[in-house]
Amino acid sequence: MTATILDGKEFAARVRAKVADHVTLLKEKHSITPGLAVVLVGEDPASQVYVRSKGKLTVEVGMASFEHKLDADTSEADLLVLIARLNADPEVHGILVQLPLPPHLDSDLVINSIDPSKDVDGFHISNVGLLGTGQKSMVPCTPLGCLMLLRDHHGSLSGLNAVVVGRSNIVGKPMAQLLLGDSCTVTIAHSRSKDLPAICQGADILVAAVGRAEMVPGDWIKPGATVIDVGINRIERDGKTKLVGDVHFDSAAQVAGAITPVPGGVGPMTIACLLANTVTATCRAHGLAEPEGLTV
Ligand code: NAP
Repeated sequence: MTATILDGKEFAARVRAKVADHVTLLKEKHSITPGLAVVLVGEDPASQVYVRSKGKLTVEVGMASFEHKLDADTSEADLLVLIARLNADPEVHGILVQLPLPPHLDSDLVINSIDPSKDVDGFHISNVGLLGTGQKSMVPCTPLGCLMLLRDHHGSLSGLNAVVVGRSNIVGKPMAQLLLGDSCTVTIAHSRSKDLPAICQGADILVAAVGRAEMVPGDWIKPGATVIDVGINRIERDGKTKLVGDVHFDSAAQVAGAITPVPGGVGPMTIACLLANTVTATCRAHGLAEPEGLTV
């Protein structure tokens, strides 16, 4: 069997187009311009690349982009003052604090100081609780993007066995909550799980969010399963730097029914879902109907 490739790049472009349409409607009908503020503390090169690309795509869909670049030695008090200012700013509908923060800053404290209705990353404890109890929340972007790809491919996910490998707060746990919300039977595996190959072999849907290059080989995959590879790992091969996922793509694609590539799978969906969340937050802030298909 050769798997269908789930093209996240193409799907993300469709999500951004839908976002752009709704931004136009908000501007023309309601004179509202959705605004996304991104806060970057320090000069981590990967974070700088992400923030640049978020800013560019925010403007491309017609939203206002507010970038706040702070020195690596910014105090917690100063960062909290900035977040309080953004919380109170009516032109800002979404706030994202780029992680990881420098070690002297308490990430949980900082994230939980964001107004939950502007928390477009969905990491605030209130949004985590709302998602866990099946209530309307801001949903973390990467798992939301994975869910959109799965729903698009399968239609209904009801009754499917889903295995999520990885239990981080930003990917694994919210992914499991979303799959449970769509009535999958969900297993969360992690570094202490026993017999990971056997757990994975039971999955109709396998989500790998581990951070270990090509850890999941084809013989861990149930024939016909859908494989979502969240991993982004930089490796050296044949003297070149290459991006690979947590799944060994070539062997997995021989067994799976469908699979996301790396790059071009989950990655582009994450920023598209950030923009989608900003539109959702804008609509909720103004009591307007939310566009269909941009959140759960
Ligand atoms: P993380 O916080 O490091 O969590 C990794 C998880 O994998 C942990 O729960 C860990 O288990 C588990 N794990 C580690 N080694 C394992 C093993 N040998 N067997 C089974 N489980 C194992 O990572 P993350 O932030 O969730 O990110 C995961 C991957 O996704 C990374 O490659 C990251 O770059 C990528 N990512 C991509 C996007 C995107 O937009 N595509 C967004 C976010 C993250 P324990 O809890 O037991 O330690």
